[in-house]
Formats: sequence, C-alpha cells, structure tokens
Amino acid sequence: MRDFSVTIIGSSAALPLKNRNLTAQVVNHAGRLFLVDCGEGTQIQMIKLKIKSMRINHIFISHLHGDHFYGLIGLISTFHLLGRKEDLHLYAPEQLESIISLQLEISLTRLNYRIIYHSTNPDIVETIYDDDKLVVTTIPMMHRIPTTGFLFTEKPYPRHINMEAAERLNVPYTSFVALKSGEDYLSEDGTLIPNSLLTIEPFPQRSYAFCSDTVYNEVYADLISGCNLLYHEATFMSDMAEIARLKMHSTSAQAALVAVKSRAGKLLIGHFSARYDNLLPLLEEARRIFPETYLAEEGVTYSV
Ligand SMILES: [Zn+2]
Ligand SMILES: [Zn+2]
Repeated sequence: MRDFSVTIIGSSAALPLKNRNLTAQVVNHAGRLFLVDCGEGTQIQMIKLKIKSMRINHIFISHLHGDHFYGLIGLISTFHLLGRKEDLHLYAPEQLESIISLQLEISLTRLNYRIIYHSTNPDIVETIYDDDKLVVTTIPMMHRIPTTGFLFTEKPYPRHINMEAAERLNVPYTSFVALKSGEDYLSEDGTLIPNSLLTIEPFPQRSYAFCSDTVYNEVYADLISGCNLLYHEATFMSDMAEIARLKMHSTSAQAALVAVKSRAGKLLIGHFSARYDNLLPLLEEARRIFPETYLAEEGVTYSV
C-alpha cells in the first residue's frame, strides 16, 4: 500500500501562540509532498520538523485570511534563494496571484522558477489536481470570504495476481498488466478465463478531507462521504456556538457531526481559538459524538 499521511504543522486559529502555530499541513502521498495552507511560521516549522520543503511542488490554499497564507511569500522567497528550478503550482482563490506578484514586483525579485496559478472556485466542486495515483478536488466551504476545502483521493490500486491460479492455468507473465487492470484472460486455445479467477481484490482506495474554515453546514458532508481521515476545524466549543456561527466557524461538536454524517473513519480537529490553553475539553466534546476523534497535534504524522 502506498504511503498516505498528513503531518500537522500548525493548528492555531488567527493568532500564533508560543506552543501553537498557524494552519499548515503536509500531505504525503506515495512520497509526493503537498502543502495545505501556509500560515506565518510554516517554513520555520518545516525546518524544525525536518520536512524537505523543496520537494513540495503543489501548494493548496483554502482561503485568503492571513492565518492561512501569510507564510507563503516567505516560502516562495526561500525557494528562490535556495536555487529552485522546478515549477511551483499554487491552488488558491484568484486574488492570490496579484498579491504575490505585487510583493515580488516591489522587492524587485525575479524568481528563478515559475509559479503556476490555478484559481479555485468555492461555488463548485472541481478536480484541480490529477496525477497517476492521486486526485484532488475542491470542497465548497461557507466562510466570510471565498473558501474551499480539499479532498485528496487515491486512484484505484491494480488488482493482485493470484499466482497460484495463474501458474495452474499457464497464464504468461506478459498478461499480468492487463489482468491487474481488471481484464479477463483469453487463453491460446480460445478459453476466456474471467479476471476474478486470476486476481484478488486490490488495496482499498483511501481519501483525506481537509475542511477549514467553515460554518457548520451539511452540504459538504456528502461530498466527503466515506473519507478515511477528516480534518475539520473546531475553533470553539459548543458554549460559543452563536459566536462560531457569526464568525462563520465551527464548534468541536459540529466537527464531530460532520464526521458522523460523512461516515469518516477518523476525525482530526484543529484551528483552535487562542482562548483555549487546554484542548482536552474540545476533544471530549467531539468524542461524545464521534469517538474516533483526535487533536491535530503539531509535528505529529497521522496515517490516512
Ligand atoms: Zn483561519
Ligand atoms: Zn478564515
């Protein structure tokens, strides 16, 4: 099975604290690294966590509140100073391009690599990234400014060859690629052997959903249905549900409700308000509704 994990870089909402950084996380899929959000301090956190940031070629920005992207210009600049040549793809609301371009223009910086901008649209669900093993689609969020979450879904694994059956039925190795993709086998004497006799079920496809920032709503629960791991913001506890609604954020209990409705395997909560020193009450609130809830702890890597 391919590596598929998420490393939390920052889990604080709005303000950095001495023990919590602003939103950012690195998704590793089959050795490819993807950065999701890039709050201030992200590059320093990546150095501390020994994450090889130069291997990141794709950065997904949920929205243009500062706590989710103020670290980006610093990272872009560091990539330049380190002699980066590879293209850098940025997926974000369309205004990001003019913000970054202005910062580079005024500092007279001519990057020695290309930035390729891909604008996201919070009104639709669309595929924004597609390689041979992974697809990333947007998840429309409801927040004070245009915001999308991101759903990372693995492509199907090839089926496994049933070696015992293949040898017994004299199936040549040259047919294995077709068999792995699900085709039946036509033997030399013209007998059609169904694929199910020659292969066994592949590894299951997994998916990871990143949902931040958003007011609680049920619209996107269907879109992330069956995700193995859900990261959901839990800025406040339920006693502040009205404030959460006005600020268009979610409570810990609401994050857990999304996990229930989407039948997620596990829930990671994050984007905690600076008012909470102790996060255990947020965890307990969510666990009462969805027991498989965990706090997004910085520096910790969670398997999908
Ligand atoms: Zn935020
Ligand atoms: Zn926000």
